[in-house]
Amino acid sequence: MSEQTRPGAPLPLEPDAAGADALLHAAGGLVQDLLAEHREGAVLGRPLGHDLAAQLLALRPGAEGRPLQEVLDLLRAVLATGTDNAAAGELAYIPGSGLLSAAVADLLAGTANRYTGLSAFSPAAVALEQSVLSWLTERFDLPPSAQALLLSGGSAANLTALIVAREARAAGQLARACLYVGEHAHASVRKAARLAGFDPELVRVCPTVDGLHLDAEAVRIRIKQDLADGLLPVAVVGAAGTTNTGAVDDLAALAEVAAEHGCWFHVDAAYGGFFRLTARGRARLEGIDRADSITLDPHKSLFLPFGTGALLVRDRHHLLTAFGEEADYLRDAVDDELALPDLAGLGPELTRPWRGLRLWLPLLLHGTDAFVAALDEVLDLAAWAAEELAADPYVEVVSRPELSILTFRVPGDDAAQDAALARIHADGRVRLSSTRLEGRVVLRLAVLSHRTTAATVTTAVTLIRRAAAEAARAAGTP
Ligand SMILES: *Cc1c(COP(=O)(O)O)cnc(C)c1O
Repeated sequence: MSEQTRPGAPLPLEPDAAGADALLHAAGGLVQDLLAEHREGAVLGRPLGHDLAAQLLALRPGAEGRPLQEVLDLLRAVLATGTDNAAAGELAYIPGSGLLSAAVADLLAGTANRYTGLSAFSPAAVALEQSVLSWLTERFDLPPSAQALLLSGGSAANLTALIVAREARAAGQLARACLYVGEHAHASVRKAARLAGFDPELVRVCPTVDGLHLDAEAVRIRIKQDLADGLLPVAVVGAAGTTNTGAVDDLAALAEVAAEHGCWFHVDAAYGGFFRLTARGRARLEGIDRADSITLDPHKSLFLPFGTGALLVRDRHHLLTAFGEEADYLRDAVDDELALPDLAGLGPELTRPWRGLRLWLPLLLHGTDAFVAALDEVLDLAAWAAEELAADPYVEVVSRPELSILTFRVPGDDAAQDAALARIHADGRVRLSSTRLEGRVVLRLAVLSHRTTAATVTTAVTLIRRAAAEAARAAGTP
């Protein structure tokens, strides 16, 4: 036994082989327990852990290291509290499940700690990332001029997109630059507009045709009005799956309107984007290939752990215009051999984690068919849940799944919806959420976890039907 594995001994900054093994082995045990919990455990029902949270807030690292086991036990205690949103029964918000293979890729990327902001130092590592980026742009049928970029999430991708659009279409004219977004655009789009310097007054929130989908004709009329008023229409933002209902805007029609007026066309596909890999999703997302930029969230519909968004840009020169900088201290970091991208010059980050590995490893290891099958299963489960609920006399399906989200109501007023949700959640096995549609509270079920099975959705449907019958009794519905 090495000194570093003696029970109670603190681990040095650079462990020897035995010390590293002890750390990996202990972490591996915890990983197995977490996976078992995700697969079989309930989403809800754990204590929220406010007492523990208060203790943790007051905790500070000691001058002396603590034994590994003690630190991991503390972490284990944290994970015994709160919502397990990676569990199979997570059907709330946009579920994010987290692939083990991607988490392992992170461990490897962090251990290798290769610098990948410039291609000159580790061309093969950058090529590995670029290969997945090209796979992404190809899957969306973007031309060879396209370039993708991995960022921390959908919000970062939307922000980056609007900065690129600003530089491409509104350089020096920001004060009169207008953006056109839908009523159901994600909050991160408005935040991005603000951060990118657009005047919030000129972010035009356009109406829907049917309460769900952005009305391309309304956008056209608004653009013409703004032009007549001497303003500058800069970008149209469509949604490929709104967060509220999963509604996919008429992307071809929006592309047309944007093209008529020389506007940038951005599609926020943070939730729905990867359904493009399936035949049904491909049909639903018709027209997305006409976008100037597309936001994707691999940590949503590609099941990756949180921390990976992607931006696809039709013409990489727009990224260079927006983000390229020269720096004297990087003068020796040039490699033109394979025309590999200097990712630091194409996005906001200089030093960045080697994010490509967390996509590359799962995609190569499992194969793309595994992802297509998982996404098809997600579509099937949502469709099945909608059919079952529509057949129930006490459930009103408000929006059917275009992809994998549906909304519904039980008998009674808004308070009855909240009460039904509380009743469903008391069981613990599944978590749904609620939102508002045209002023009414609706309950919402979103399938997007690779762990969610037919059994999970059957449980959800059973609990919903029970809560709906209860609500009907309470409301005096025959
Ligand atoms: C989740 C989401 C975002 C924001 O993405 P984050 O990864 O949470 O930053 C943006 N747009 C849509 C449609 C989303 O569903």
